[in-house]
Amino acid sequence: MSRSIIQVSNLHKKYGEFEAVKGISFEVMEGEIFGLLGPNGAGKSTTLEIIETLRQKTSGEVIVDGMNLDQSPDAIKKIIGVQLQTSGYYPGLNLTELIQLFAGLYNEAVDPLQLLDKVNLRDKAKAKFKELSGGQKQRFSIATTLINRPKIIFLDEPTTGLDPQARRNLWDLILDIRKQGTTVIITTHYMDEAEVLCDRVAIVDSGKIIAIASPDQLIDDLVASGFERPKEVKKASLEDVFIHLTGHSLRED
Ligand code: ADP
Repeated sequence: MSRSIIQVSNLHKKYGEFEAVKGISFEVMEGEIFGLLGPNGAGKSTTLEIIETLRQKTSGEVIVDGMNLDQSPDAIKKIIGVQLQTSGYYPGLNLTELIQLFAGLYNEAVDPLQLLDKVNLRDKAKAKFKELSGGQKQRFSIATTLINRPKIIFLDEPTTGLDPQARRNLWDLILDIRKQGTTVIITTHYMDEAEVLCDRVAIVDSGKIIAIASPDQLIDDLVASGFERPKEVKKASLEDVFIHLTGHSLRED
């Protein structure tokens, strides 16, 4: 039985008069991939950034690995890994130099090549960040979340804008990171991605959680309520055709 590693209780966030997060509660179990799904503006990033200690909450309680966010934000920072927006990297540094820079900030001894191996970027060690493809940039930014050997990593829309092969490659990487014991919290707009990756998802709408369960359970509940797809579903999708014709291998490397 896994234990709960994050507990969020009755979280509220106001930006001036506007309430972006309206009393959200959920917990994340150690070792799971937990998804926050919802339309743009639902409050997903705000919720994540509060847990990541990057944004002030208005009220509510957040506990991360037994530590209260109000009392121990610095201790929480040490055990989490946060994916930066890719525009945040110094464009003139190569990947090895960037890892050394981050390792210095975290005061961690890290072997850059070993870390690049994990995300399949060893051959790009001397390349500058701006020279990478979209998928490679995302893989590198996931590598930087691992520098401080975190217990939990936060990934905000890690596959947005990637081609189908690069998305699948990133799914494998995320599953692999979880296999090493790291808890993963992810936001995504792709429901197929959530279905493949997430053990449980919370669906957020207008600042509230409107459903929380495993993808299977949510689908079963919908079917049990009498829902039927309006037309017969084909046995393959256009994405299946695309992958079948162009293969699974990455083109960018
Ligand atoms: P999501 O990640 O689900 O797209 P966000 O958490 O980014 O949603 O935003 C939730 C709501 O809060 C949106 O209506 C957004 O415009 C608003 N919002 C986000 N950040 C700020 C801010 N710094 N100031 C004012 N409003 C904000």
